[in-house]
Amino acid sequence: MEPETSYGFRETAHSHYILGAALPEVNNQICLLMFWDNYSSESNQNPPGITNPNELKMKIKDILLPGLELSDEDAKKFINQRSSSVVQNKCNRYSDKEGQVVLIGDAAHAMLSRLGQGCQAAFNDVLVLNQLLQEENNNLDIVLPKYSEQQVKEGHAITDLNAYLAPRANWLMILFNTVMLLRSKLNKKFPNLIQLTPFAAVSQTLIPYSEIADRFQHWIKLIKW
Ligand SMILES: Cc1cc2nc3c(=O)[nH]c(=O)nc-3n(C[C@H](O)[C@H](O)[C@H](O)COP(=O)(O)OP(=O)(O)OC[C@H]3O[C@@H](n4cnc5c(N)ncnc54)[C@H](O)[C@@H]3O)c2cc1C
Repeated sequence: MEPETSYGFRETAHSHYILGAALPEVNNQICLLMFWDNYSSESNQNPPGITNPNELKMKIKDILLPGLELSDEDAKKFINQRSSSVVQNKCNRYSDKEGQVVLIGDAAHAMLSRLGQGCQAAFNDVLVLNQLLQEENNNLDIVLPKYSEQQVKEGHAITDLNAYLAPRANWLMILFNTVMLLRSKLNKKFPNLIQLTPFAAVSQTLIPYSEIADRFQHWIKLIKW
């Protein structure tokens, strides 16, 4: 493996998936990020098929990231730590004046990290709230309902884009990935005719999430189904 290079990995089986990345850090260290959906009950919430440090080392070296050798100590540390769960939430409003609560960021719209938009979405809440406070002279009776009205649809949209633009059924995954690959290539040639993929649209433009979700509503519906 090359230093200073990020590597992604994915294992999709009938009963589970494992995906993640090895990201270079300072001091020649690598940060290993792993997501899985179906842990084995006997394994203290470890990734499927992995119950001890040796199995983890083999899985990494032979299958997920060929060539990456974990030290015994790192493998042990990984196995002994508690995994955490990814939580998604959707709220129908982001404020409660009587309760003196305003929700921003993950508190308002925790989402899967697939599209890497958690921080971006949180900053966006802050900007919108700040702008409304200035425009409305800090009048919370006007600002808070407006904030919810503007941001709830954005929060729902990015949560859905994260959750549903990754089909699990093999046939649908192949179809989706092929269409997205074609769209990406065609967009480069005919940018006025073919729209960006949702992945490019969320990461490279300032198009609101709600508009991107609207454009790909048919895919979201199909994948949800
Ligand atoms: C593995 C992983 C990968 C991610 N990758 C990306 C990425 O590539 N790009 C991206 O944009 N986003 C990514 N995210 C998401 C991103 O980290 C979050 O969306 C973002 O940090 C949300 O910011 P926040 O301020 O809303 O919440 P947080 O960053 O969670 O901040 C909340 C803070 O409140 C503190 N807190 C909690 N309870 C209390 C309490 N009772 N009293 C006082 N303090 C408290 C917490 O300690 C924490 O510091 C990733 C998340 C994970 C888990």
